[in-house]
Amino acid sequence: MKAVRLVAVGQPLAMQEVPVPAVGDREVLVRVKAAGICHSDAHYRAGDSPAGPLPLTLGHEVAGVVERVGVQVASLKPGDRVCLHYLVTCGDCTYCSRGNEQFCVEGEMIGKHRDGGYAEYICVPARSIVRLPDEIPFEHGAALMCSSSTCLHALRKARLQGGETVAVFGSGGLGMSAIQLALALGALEVYAVDINEAKLELAERYGAIGVNAARVDPVAEIKRLTRGRGVDVAVEVVGLPQTMRQALLSLAVMGRAALVGLTQESFEVYPYTELVGKEAEIIGSSDHLLSELPTLLEFARRGTLDLSEVITRTVPLDAEAINAALDELDRFGGNVRTVITP
Ligand SMILES: [Zn+2]
Ligand SMILES: [Zn+2]
Repeated sequence: MKAVRLVAVGQPLAMQEVPVPAVGDREVLVRVKAAGICHSDAHYRAGDSPAGPLPLTLGHEVAGVVERVGVQVASLKPGDRVCLHYLVTCGDCTYCSRGNEQFCVEGEMIGKHRDGGYAEYICVPARSIVRLPDEIPFEHGAALMCSSSTCLHALRKARLQGGETVAVFGSGGLGMSAIQLALALGALEVYAVDINEAKLELAERYGAIGVNAARVDPVAEIKRLTRGRGVDVAVEVVGLPQTMRQALLSLAVMGRAALVGLTQESFEVYPYTELVGKEAEIIGSSDHLLSELPTLLEFARRGTLDLSEVITRTVPLDAEAINAALDELDRFGGNVRTVITP
């Protein structure tokens, strides 16, 4: 089969002919119908974040159709529409058995530690598979498995309650999911903070109130819009110390800031006035859980979570086209969403 693979760090991905993976007793072979090109993939190619052993087929946002099932798999059959939880976990370790499988001691991410979906087929354990309802296109199913699920996890970590208010810092692909999911979970108002007017317009079409941080101080503006109170939940998806600090400062008394963006830099916190005195919380949020995916897919099936304006382009399973999409992510960051449709 054809697979587009990372052969050497810092080099363009290359098309290789590789064997169709053998299917173990508890595994499922999936014919890939859609594989999202994620900003993380650009980091793996550049070597900013380690992936391997090489050569490795990238692609952790995958949807497709079951081609073949192992002898012990009773829950799925050839032809089923499915999408893949990107973490392959053991199911037995302390973390897995407590439902925190993103910390599984043997956990492997597809497209990072083991072959992913930039290929005609992918093989994963049956327990990593979720059914994809007929109403959801494969391209959406793929994107739901990364950016959308990460946002749902962050909102759940932040313990968002119906009737609360939310600020989302960053209105790219993740932000658009965070806005819609916050509204789906019952947020009264969602403020979208960004410096790009086009993205803020899209955020407003999805029901958010745009705050242009290039024109106003977003913290002061959120305070003004909430009559001095601040928001109950802030979600930061940018990965900058400045926006992390703004997320914290925009919180109301007992507010929770969920940090999703990644940075190696630090940001300032004044413990008394910003955390202790108002019982505010800063919460780290990493990946997502298998158990969150059915809820996410149901939101997408009902159209409550709509990715049609977020996924802007599809490309074939072709090394040149995929490298060009990754080059674009290197230049502009995670705002362009391209899905491979082999
Ligand atoms: Zn991703
Ligand atoms: Zn485990």
